[in-house]
Amino acid sequence: MSFSKQIPDLERVPTPLAPLHGSQMLVPPVSSRISKEGILPSLRVQMGRGPSAEARLYAFRELAFRSAIPQELLDSWSVEVSDDATVVTLGDARIRFRHAPSTFWSELAGGNYQVVHASWPYQFVNHRADLVPDFIVPFVDRTYAGPLFVRTSEKSWECPIDLLASVLLTLSRFEELQSDERDMHGRFLATQSVALKHNFLHRPVVDEYGLALEQVIQSLLPGWRPAERRLMVKLSHDIDEIGFPRNMSNSLGHTVKRRKPSATLRDLIGPIFGLRPSLLEAVLRLAELSKRHGMVSALYWKFSGQTAWDSGYDLAMKPVREVLSCLRNAGMELGVHPGYDTFGGSRQLADEVERIREVIGESLIGGRQHFLRWHPCTWRDWEKLGLAYDSTVGFSDHIGFRAGTCVPYRPWSLELNREIALLEIPLLAMDVTLAYYMRLSPERSLAMLLQCVERCKLVGGVFTLLWHNRSLLDPNYGHTYQKVLSALEFTPGFDWKHTLSTGQY
Ligand SMILES: [Zn+2]
Repeated sequence: MSFSKQIPDLERVPTPLAPLHGSQMLVPPVSSRISKEGILPSLRVQMGRGPSAEARLYAFRELAFRSAIPQELLDSWSVEVSDDATVVTLGDARIRFRHAPSTFWSELAGGNYQVVHASWPYQFVNHRADLVPDFIVPFVDRTYAGPLFVRTSEKSWECPIDLLASVLLTLSRFEELQSDERDMHGRFLATQSVALKHNFLHRPVVDEYGLALEQVIQSLLPGWRPAERRLMVKLSHDIDEIGFPRNMSNSLGHTVKRRKPSATLRDLIGPIFGLRPSLLEAVLRLAELSKRHGMVSALYWKFSGQTAWDSGYDLAMKPVREVLSCLRNAGMELGVHPGYDTFGGSRQLADEVERIREVIGESLIGGRQHFLRWHPCTWRDWEKLGLAYDSTVGFSDHIGFRAGTCVPYRPWSLELNREIALLEIPLLAMDVTLAYYMRLSPERSLAMLLQCVERCKLVGGVFTLLWHNRSLLDPNYGHTYQKVLSALEFTPGFDWKHTLSTGQY
């Protein structure tokens, strides 16, 4: 596998107000109805005197995990949390993580977030420094510009800023709980995030801290060598529409908008010859492409009725059942894509998940919320239903690392002060984001996706991509997708069932 090394930097790209570059293919469905239903009020978290001891232990485990420390080694260490520091003891060595003072937490709740840039613990020539020139740490209590870890004696190091709190708040999406700002679909946007405002949404910052801690541990345990970090991939497809119920303007759009007259012809004469609609046929094509490149796709299906934002297809139709059977036989994963009105944990969410389980014939399934309508409370809604994983945590308006990570993790609920029994596989990029929201050309989209892949590879994370069946019909962006697959050829898929059963990544 080789990726271009000459990819331009992923700088901040403004969110557009006008449609996309070169094609109207990926524009989301238009409706005159602007729904405010289901938009959640913010659930501000009172941090009191700061994160609990349990939350800090959770944050340390997540950090240690990102340093490639094996579980057996981690189990031999002791971690003590006091008011002013968390101290990790490994044999006769110690690492001290300073805590922010208790007076800081009421200031933080006001929404004034400070971000600092720290340097590597060791400044020697480092092949990782091209992509990670420094460590960007949000939600800190003071200005700081030194190394992320400072050596205080032969056997001890200290992290002078409250890194564990930053890890916790970033992974648990603290700022989204604190904010009242939402778009018309009730979504917290990248443009509101501390990561885009401070231009680090393109960096898996939490995973990068693991690289710094790895240096520290290597200095304390000279015989220890971290396991090799390897890239994994999660290709996923939200099946929003399949050409049923039949829709003439949609079929004509294949020619007018997507310059694909064969797709229009297929839709028009299909009913006579028993052909599948183009959009349903494209679902099979997605699976075929994955297989051809040595990978597996996850296809998330809907069971929502027709609304202004849901096409309302019927999974019981024979052509759909045939496609589901083909996908199963090809070894593809099937999951759930709850409809627009399920946001907020309504009874409808439970109904749709149940129906999809029946159709798929499996209870252990994962998926993604339609329209990326998501809030930190959605984790609890999904947990209640016993879903295996969610893969919604990515921004609709900008690609990048919404939770500062590309390593799947069990989220921490700040409201409940406990871990959630659900795996989060963070979404990093979606076709509609590139083409519609960011208005990027296919070439620029490809460059950004490949740089995102490089960053995942460096930290040993999962490159999670969402590509819709409709996008495959677009000559420009369909081609981009195939180029991404060629670059990823035979990259191992992320095995979430293994992670769930063993707790190991
Ligand atoms: Zn959708």
